[in-house]
Amino acid sequence: MSIKVLIIGSGPAGYTAAIYAARAGLKPVLYTGGQPGGQLTTTNDVENFPGYPDGINGPQMMIDLQKQAERFGTEIKYGLVTAVDTTKYPFPVTVDEKDLISAESIIIATGATAKYLGIPSEEKFANRGVSACAVCDGYFYRGKEVAVVGAGDSAGEESTYLSKLCTKVHLIVRRDEMRASKIMQQRVLNTPNIQVHWNTETDEILGDEQGVTGVRIKNNKTGQKTELAIQGFFLAIGHKPNTDLFKGQLDMDEAGYLVVKPGSTKTNVEGIFAVGDVADKVYRQAITAAGSGCMGALDAEKFLAAKEADVAHA
Ligand code: NDP
Repeated sequence: MSIKVLIIGSGPAGYTAAIYAARAGLKPVLYTGGQPGGQLTTTNDVENFPGYPDGINGPQMMIDLQKQAERFGTEIKYGLVTAVDTTKYPFPVTVDEKDLISAESIIIATGATAKYLGIPSEEKFANRGVSACAVCDGYFYRGKEVAVVGAGDSAGEESTYLSKLCTKVHLIVRRDEMRASKIMQQRVLNTPNIQVHWNTETDEILGDEQGVTGVRIKNNKTGQKTELAIQGFFLAIGHKPNTDLFKGQLDMDEAGYLVVKPGSTKTNVEGIFAVGDVADKVYRQAITAAGSGCMGALDAEKFLAAKEADVAHA
């Protein structure tokens, strides 16, 4: 039997879609993907989600969203959707490269993944001093000196988070300004143990058998190279949408974000909807992801009702 609403992804978009679809009696099945709870599990305090005057811890918020989705009958499955055939209906879907299921509608909420610089030393020291998640790994560097690369809100958040654990944080910014919101920039600049290195790029991460011991940075105006003694190197340079699964099947923009019809969550394939960061490179907030998850469930509900009406009239 086909699943009526298949939700792929377990961030705020996926869980909100699940809450709405479940309350509409559509018995949604949600596959969590490789990072249950999504990106918010790698964040610390979420202070901008309405309804939490004192803020809420990211992982806790995802546990609460999961519970809320389950309360109304969502079936949560810990698996990875590895293939979707958008040319057949109901849509054949492969899970963990072996199990075949089928779905009458699909809500894609696969989010986005952290980007890396692409230098060899980054891979060499992965999990031995190089990390893309300060909240996950910062604890290992307490009392030590670290570097963060990036200049957006993530870089601001990660460096202020690390500044509470570490003796010193070097923030490596490639331009002469930060992209982060003004309030975040102020937070960074007002933190005494964060040193911002402007117009600076990462030349190489240095280390030995034990892991990272330093980073060689290069001023891109003067060409001057400097070595910093650090033990942790954190990336905060943005994300890539998780859409490889749909290449050649669903419309995407040049960066790989799924394209939806304006004012809706509809992709170019009827019955397949995209919600959250996977289709949003502009806002990328938990609250906007949750809002679009709600839209996705309502769009799927409408689609299924129209299909049923067609069958009844046939
Ligand atoms: P962004 O895309 O906003 O920023 C990425 C940053 O990384 C940019 O400053 C960019 O530099 C820099 N960068 C990219 N590639 C490289 C490279 N190869 N070398 C050095 N630097 C590089 O990503 P974020 O993850 O920071 O934020 C994503 C979204 O999430 C944003 O909308 C942000 O506002 C939001 N967010 C909100 C938070 C909050 O409100 N608490 C917390 C975290 C994120 P350049 O500026 O030169 O392009």
